Amino acid sequence: MFSQIISKIQQHHARLVAVSKTHPVEKILKIYHEGQRIFGENRPQEMLEKHQVLPVDIQWHMIGHLQTNKVKYIAPFVAMIHSVDSLKLLQEIDRQGQKHQRVIDCLLQFHIAKEETKFGLDEDEAQEMLTSQEYGAMKHVRICGVMGMATFTDDHQQVRQEFRQLKGIFNQLKSRFFARDDHFREISMGMSGDWELALEEGSTLVRIGSLIFGTR
Ligand SMILES: *Cc1c(COP(=O)(O)O)cnc(C)c1O
Repeated sequence: MFSQIISKIQQHHARLVAVSKTHPVEKILKIYHEGQRIFGENRPQEMLEKHQVLPVDIQWHMIGHLQTNKVKYIAPFVAMIHSVDSLKLLQEIDRQGQKHQRVIDCLLQFHIAKEETKFGLDEDEAQEMLTSQEYGAMKHVRICGVMGMATFTDDHQQVRQEFRQLKGIFNQLKSRFFARDDHFREISMGMSGDWELALEEGSTLVRIGSLIFGTR
């Protein structure tokens, strides 16, 4: 099962974020020994605890909503933060990056779903952020692309259309702000229920949990 998922992802030149939240380190190690190196968590303290006991070459991706006061737990080691949804959060990531003498890779999370509850920016907010003086002065964050979650629905057309919307946002930002920046290349979209659709629509990072680890 795992190898089939991997080969499909590789056919699309994308990468897998194995979403290991709530799952024990033994299960993570099993996938690690099959070659997986990128793991996704949504709670800073849980990510820190797992980082401390698991192999150092694991790349930890923060995929869940991140509170400003919790950036400090993951700043020394996190490989990518997918869930940047405010200037205030980006400023704190920059501060913590400076403190630990590193540049932290980030994605801007966009609200593409019809559901009210999902976090994320809209295009105007992102534009405001990227043109702000504060962002212009940051030296310890690097924005590498965008992330989004589609509506939880069986309506494939709707999900596909939301993924297209995110890809459109990526293209816009790329041409307006990151045309000369090779690091701006990631589109994080697709979960257990919609990852194949996401790949078809141009995902570069699919975040798959339950399909790999079983239901929580
Ligand atoms: C939990 C989670 C996933 C993975 O969800 P599955 O349906 O288990 O694949 C992906 N992205 C985010 C942001 C999540 O919180």
